[in-house]
Amino acid sequence: MTTETVEEFEARARAWAAENLPPEDPDNPPHFEDDLEDWSRQRELQKKVWEGGFAGICFPQEYGGLGLSTAYQEAYGRAIHGYQTPTRLNLPTFAIVAPVILDHGTEEQKQKYVRGALMGDVILSQFFSEPKGGSDLAGVITRAERDGDTWVLNGNKIWSTAAYGADYGICLARTDWDAPKHRGLSMFMVPIKEQAGFTLNRIRMVTADSDFCEEFFEDLVLPADALVGEVNDGWTVASRQLVYERTAVGGGSQYTQGPRMPRPQNHDVQSPAELAKSLGKQDDPYVQDRVGLAHTYEVIHGQINHRVGQAMRRGALPPPAASIMRLFHAESMWTTRDVMMDVAGGLAVAPNGHYAGAITNGVEDYLMRQSASLGGGSTEMARNLISERVLGMPREYAADRDVPFREVRQGR
Ligand SMILES: Cc1cc2nc3c(=O)[nH]c(=O)nc-3n(C[C@H](O)[C@H](O)[C@H](O)COP(=O)(O)OP(=O)(O)OC[C@H]3O[C@@H](n4cnc5c(N)ncnc54)[C@H](O)[C@@H]3O)c2cc1C
Repeated sequence: MTTETVEEFEARARAWAAENLPPEDPDNPPHFEDDLEDWSRQRELQKKVWEGGFAGICFPQEYGGLGLSTAYQEAYGRAIHGYQTPTRLNLPTFAIVAPVILDHGTEEQKQKYVRGALMGDVILSQFFSEPKGGSDLAGVITRAERDGDTWVLNGNKIWSTAAYGADYGICLARTDWDAPKHRGLSMFMVPIKEQAGFTLNRIRMVTADSDFCEEFFEDLVLPADALVGEVNDGWTVASRQLVYERTAVGGGSQYTQGPRMPRPQNHDVQSPAELAKSLGKQDDPYVQDRVGLAHTYEVIHGQINHRVGQAMRRGALPPPAASIMRLFHAESMWTTRDVMMDVAGGLAVAPNGHYAGAITNGVEDYLMRQSASLGGGSTEMARNLISERVLGMPREYAADRDVPFREVRQGR
């Protein structure tokens, strides 16, 4: 138990940040390139945070964290505002994979992956999605077969965010084809390095970024200690991971440090209100109406995250309630991005002058808003989960429930 108050902690973090973290240059804000150099920078920054004693504010002390409450995590976020921080490690390393290892990993795995991540030595990614099914996660067909003390992995994953910069991917694979689909899965830690049987390709997106990866496993040999949780109980681990993912994507994770996502590249214009002002449209009643709508969504999003997050931590809402945060994140993101485009008007497609950079980024954000309703599970699936698991409405019919997976028709 710390005797330091939140205020004292914040003041100490503020003084430390001023001394140790490079300030963000407002004229040249951090641009997250899709390259390995940027990931080395993230590791370096995390090492600074670790050495400063501020890593893993809500992680248990046994695994390198500080064991403090979310009030301290929020205070730290305020204290480091305006400084460069290892933001990219928040998702999925700190907010998704590390907590799932805390819940289901062995003692050795917790020391290796959780402490390793907090020290800036280990970056983690997720191998869930497959080309033949994303929403139907329990339908994965990547297989792991036991061979003596080892496991042999064969299959293909896709849409793994930033796996090229990571050290391990947590990977859901089928280990029993005779069990029904949810009961024949196991979870593994797959090392991401040049090795026999492992290929990683990067995927170029419409925004010209190439953050997404696809991985191929051909007789890739994994040691026995790659298994996370019990054999054939991977669905338990995956379900927990999905809760962390929805909480994190929604913006309510206690395991993030500092800003959840990289900040927009152009700091002049971050919100519809700022954009309207910078274009001299703040007195236009239509623009005011649209900006007001976006602002309302943002405020409600913040309140929902706070209330649902607290209620889940108290046990007043069940873990699937994380889908409420995740759903509202997408709704809020779509509204904000649409309003930004509306306010920019023709400039959005033919940007010029002083605001060109901001608006070009706005258009990229507009294209990427699709991702907010797919990444971390789609909004349709979030609605299903809220209705079935939070509100207790009838379950969706599934023809493959309780059928041995071997007998389930594969593909679409
Ligand atoms: C930004 C981003 C980051 C991502 N990062 C990762 C990552 O790191 N690792 C990883 O493994 N994956 C990642 N993904 C993949 C993501 O998890 C999948 O895109 C997601 O699970 C949806 O799967 P899908 O794209 O195959 O869509 P599909 O499953 O093909 O679904 C298509 C549409 O049908 C709807 N639908 C499907 N089934 C139902 C149903 N029963 N009821 C109602 N509607 C239904 C879906 O909601 C969706 O709108 C990422 C995706 C994005 C966009």
